[in-house]
Amino acid sequence: MSTPRIEVHLSKIRHNAKTVIGRLRTRGISVTGVTKAVCGHPTIARAMLDGGAVGLAEARLSNVRKLRNAGMTCPITLIRTPTLSQVDQVVQYCETSYNTEILVITALAAAAIRKDCIHGIILMVEMGDLREGIMPKDLDSIAQQVVDMPGVALKGIGANFACLSGISPNAADMDALSVLANDTEGQCGSFLQTVSGGNSANLPWALGGHPVGRINDLRLGEAILLGVDPVSGDQIGGMYTDAFTLVAEVIETGSKPATHPQSICDPVFKKLHLVPKSGQSTQLILAIGQQDTDVFGLSMPPRNGLIGATSDHLVIGTSHSTQSVGSEMRFQMNYSALMKAMSAPDVKTRLLHRSPSRHVRVSQGPGNHLASI
Ligand SMILES: *Cc1c(COP(=O)(O)O)cnc(C)c1O
Repeated sequence: MSTPRIEVHLSKIRHNAKTVIGRLRTRGISVTGVTKAVCGHPTIARAMLDGGAVGLAEARLSNVRKLRNAGMTCPITLIRTPTLSQVDQVVQYCETSYNTEILVITALAAAAIRKDCIHGIILMVEMGDLREGIMPKDLDSIAQQVVDMPGVALKGIGANFACLSGISPNAADMDALSVLANDTEGQCGSFLQTVSGGNSANLPWALGGHPVGRINDLRLGEAILLGVDPVSGDQIGGMYTDAFTLVAEVIETGSKPATHPQSICDPVFKKLHLVPKSGQSTQLILAIGQQDTDVFGLSMPPRNGLIGATSDHLVIGTSHSTQSVGSEMRFQMNYSALMKAMSAPDVKTRLLHRSPSRHVRVSQGPGNHLASI
């Protein structure tokens, strides 16, 4: 079988979606499945929908096109502010987009009028992550302009947390978003159908028993795909963390003279102490590198340690020397490794349709706080 490849257990993704969506349903929150980490892969997107996602969200129009070309007819929201140069296609392929700039909304409205349709607008509000978002004090005036503009319809508001700042939202942040939703409705007299609270980093809040207020949607990618809370890295109780496996092939084995840490000149490598641990006397080289994935986001199998990587080579120190040239090694990936591997042209995707044979590991320790509901 060709390497490098990503093996995808579709039933595990479906199970994860079903599990987290079921828990959120009891809280009155629906889920939009985010497919950007898998580059809009239609079959993986389908697994999210089969697990109960009410629609899909994508950051890139090229991925939306991929989904549409595969015959997906569900609502698809563009969650990155559209570029001015793409407004016509945004209106063609997406029912709704997230927006922060009135200039872009005006261009979307003009494009929608040209196509004789209405494009849905969700206004993204800045709530502390300091990535995209309208400042709360400006929300009323922009919302009013959208309400008054032909060609577009104000569908809701949303916020994003923990993407740039790495700080997860707390109950006060989420209450503030609910207050903004009520105030905006009061000012504009227009019902906000969607109040989208955030991404996978919102799960500890959403499942933590706080009142959810007006929040009725979360946009989830990482939690469904990798079964983890992105901020803590903890497994979410009852979810699979191994729906994706990266498989790479060994192209050289043997021992190399030990490098003295002092002679490593790259400061990044020096900081990470990427030198073989004692006992890891054998060095393996695999035909995969920085061009294919984020090598620092791979979990090494037991008794193996990352020595380093270049664009095309991954070097591992091992005390478990049964590997030979031509054998395969398997790695779990974090979000960053997954995202890069899914978009790398030389990494093939192999979809596995069978049901997992192992039972879901019951969460122990850190995952429990997410398993309670
Ligand atoms: C990426 C992204 C998401 C999904 O984030 P996950 O951590 O994968 O759940 C949601 N909303 C926006 C705006 C995003 O950019």
